[in-house]
Amino acid sequence: MVKSIVLEDGKIIQIVQGDITKEEVDAIVNAANGYLRHGGGVAGAILRAGGKIIQEESDRIIRKNGPLEVSEVAVTGAGSLHPKYIIHVHGPRYGQENVEELLYESFLNAFKTAGKLGVKTLSVPAVSSGIFGVPKDLCARCFFRAVEYYFENYKDTPLSLIRVCNIDRATTEVFEKVSEEFF
Ligand code: ADP
Repeated sequence: MVKSIVLEDGKIIQIVQGDITKEEVDAIVNAANGYLRHGGGVAGAILRAGGKIIQEESDRIIRKNGPLEVSEVAVTGAGSLHPKYIIHVHGPRYGQENVEELLYESFLNAFKTAGKLGVKTLSVPAVSSGIFGVPKDLCARCFFRAVEYYFENYKDTPLSLIRVCNIDRATTEVFEKVSEEFF
């Protein structure tokens, strides 16, 4: 089941339960670490499904630019997956100072990057809410705050659909509930 929220200007936000590697969108966001080593969680799933080229491209970026700061993004292709791009974002760990602001910035940077790439449809997981330990409701608030800010301030963005896609029902339910505080 998909929960859809349609904004006044026609932009669409969707909340779906599913495997993000199966998403038929222009780009997906990956919950990455600073070294873009895609081992576990959603990053591991993306690598297994999309192929090792994603890790090779990631390694080249790190060799060239060094590790990502928290809330910084890097872009690779998506290997054999449907999307054209993967936007890797280094979310914060729970317990770190300013975690809420940093997670909000992480989502916002991912949206800004997607817009600059000409991405029209984007799917995003609940960054930092797995191995990095951020509570799901806090993660959802950062996400919707970033969506709201982005669509309000980037009116001519090509991005017309942002989906939050999570593998588990519990996370999806939290996002559905928190969305009611915003839209
Ligand atoms: P982080 O290290 O940033 O916390 P994780 O990958 O551990 O990132 O988890 C982020 C979220 O992604 C969690 O809610 C987790 O359940 C979810 N997740 C894991 N695998 C998938 C997948 N294949 N598709 C969608 N969501 C996933």
